[in-house]
Amino acid sequence: MNPVLDIEQIEVRYGGVTALRDVSLQVAPGQAVALLGANGAGKSTLLKTVIGLMRARTGDVRFDGRSIAGLPPQRRARLGVGYCPEGRRTFPGLQVRENLMVACWEGRAERERRVEEMFSLFPALRQKADHLAWQLSGGQQQMLAIGRSLMGRPRLLLLDEPSLGLSPVLTDEVIGRIPAIKQTGTAILLAEQNAAKALAVCDHAYVLQTGKVVGAGPAGELARSADVRKAFLGG
Ligand code: ATP
Repeated sequence: MNPVLDIEQIEVRYGGVTALRDVSLQVAPGQAVALLGANGAGKSTLLKTVIGLMRARTGDVRFDGRSIAGLPPQRRARLGVGYCPEGRRTFPGLQVRENLMVACWEGRAERERRVEEMFSLFPALRQKADHLAWQLSGGQQQMLAIGRSLMGRPRLLLLDEPSLGLSPVLTDEVIGRIPAIKQTGTAILLAEQNAAKALAVCDHAYVLQTGKVVGAGPAGELARSADVRKAFLGG
């Protein structure tokens, strides 16, 4: 079976700064893959290159077996690439339900069905359905941002640092939904600094260091690796 995402030896630069070099990575259908690395390692840049906000100078990005490297972001989104950027982006002045409804182009009945799916995935959102997004807690806003990016039923969700600014309990609540998201048929590429929590819910992982892949393997194996423990898990 083709990987849903197949990144082959890409190099990405910001002007003279090389942010990614010779990076290859795969996500299989239905898999959750963690992309680990410290601040500035290149995680966000990699996700932006997959959705099309950054262009690779060399190499290729394939989605479902076809190259998407030349396509603009909206075409990639239509093919089934979902993107949830860092920073809990929602419409603060819209209700939770409205935030979800406007994130999907289907007819009303289908949109309502999908809103129900999101409420099943994130029960905390159902209780707040009529609240304005700005009234939610940080964790609920992150769930809403993820819910919005799932409303188009992407084949792949690019999830950038969902734990940012959240307490450990809320981080567990948000990241803990990843297996349930996988069950809906959406594969996940999760960029996270919180390696322990990401490895606990992902199948596979890659470790980025200053723009290069320095480690990769099954999540369980990486969680036990001495190098990864030293770099990310406090020894
Ligand atoms: P963070 O968790 O802080 O977002 P990251 O692993 O996602 O870290 P990136 O944001 O992808 O890292 O940054 C990778 C490298 O590219 C860093 O050296 C960063 O300084 C640089 N960089 C990122 N954005 C820009 C930009 N707009 N212009 C110039 N350099 C940038």
